[in-house]
Amino acid sequence: MSEKIILTGDRPTGKLHIGHYVGSLRQRVALQNTGEFKKIFIMIADVQALTDNFANPEKVRESVAQVALDYLGVGLDSKKCTIFIQSQIPELTELTTYYLNLVTVSRVGRNPTVKSEISQKGFGESVPLGFFCYPVSQASDITAFKATTVPVGEDQKPMLEQAREIVRKFNEIYSPVLVEPEIYLAKKDACLRLPGTDGKAKMSKSIGNCIYLSDSAKDVRTKVMSMYTDPTHIHKEDPGHIEGNTVFTYLDAFCKKEHFERYLKDYSSLDELKDHYKRGGLGDVQIKKFLASILEEILSPMRERREEYAKDIPAVMEMLHKGSDAARETAAATLDEVKTAMHINYFK
Ligand code: ATP
Ligand code: MG
Repeated sequence: MSEKIILTGDRPTGKLHIGHYVGSLRQRVALQNTGEFKKIFIMIADVQALTDNFANPEKVRESVAQVALDYLGVGLDSKKCTIFIQSQIPELTELTTYYLNLVTVSRVGRNPTVKSEISQKGFGESVPLGFFCYPVSQASDITAFKATTVPVGEDQKPMLEQAREIVRKFNEIYSPVLVEPEIYLAKKDACLRLPGTDGKAKMSKSIGNCIYLSDSAKDVRTKVMSMYTDPTHIHKEDPGHIEGNTVFTYLDAFCKKEHFERYLKDYSSLDELKDHYKRGGLGDVQIKKFLASILEEILSPMRERREEYAKDIPAVMEMLHKGSDAARETAAATLDEVKTAMHINYFK
């Protein structure tokens, strides 16, 4: 078997949404089922969630089980993946301390994702230092497991770049202990950063413009029917715009050819549907109904599986406990190598 290892994860700041699904979860499940990976680590990043939710520990705590249920719902399998909780691996924090020496304040300050999150969260001049340092902490998460492959959304690109820089610097200064990770992005553009239903920004738990994987069929339909489309497309006959039209972005992300046969027989491809919309004569309600049917087809089996697992939360927590114990062993082994490379393993 190859030495390919996956590390990825999510912040327990709420339930997971369809942006997570197309940006990362869908790839994780596919990669898990290839059997090509020696190890797959999936982390619930509670330490990172606390960097901007430190005053709201209950939200973080409650979201841990919810995120785990979302994982099981989409088809991640605890027999094939090690699913664990970040805070239960203190070795990660220790690694972060050493890596902080290898990164400058100005380097993190230039990180575009950090910059936009600082403004989105309204920190102004009062950026918590813990939050500011999270790209370094993320480098610890990735390297502790010697991950080669990190399936994440596009907003994580600068984090991966930062992790690679730390690896190179560490290996150069000390000795070649760490592995340079590669980002694994979704293939379709629409999936890299799925916009929210308001069409304004990336779908994000912290903004509240989400369709959650656990939303009821009724809620999904209501959210889709009130989605942002093309403000200039007032009457059905008006020519419409595809660019920036959230319903079409979602169709790009989710629609397959066979969906036309099942739900919209008058068309045979998304290009044909787009052409008609651009010409005029195709109403928003029709394309929204089509999207709602597709989403329901994808979400309903996940919702059912999730509900099944939700009947036994102690079993879910037990899975996380076991996963955390196993993850800790791996991280401790890497930390040992790191400390030896840094000449600080005094008693070994
Ligand atoms: P928060 O608002 O708390 O940061 P979030 O919705 O951004 O939550 P994260 O837990 O930060 O979610 O992200 C988890 C993973 O999902 C990351 O790999 C991220 O790139 C990906 N992701 C998040 N939102 C989207 C999106 N809208 N489109 C594609 N991928 C996304
Ligand atoms: Mg985020």
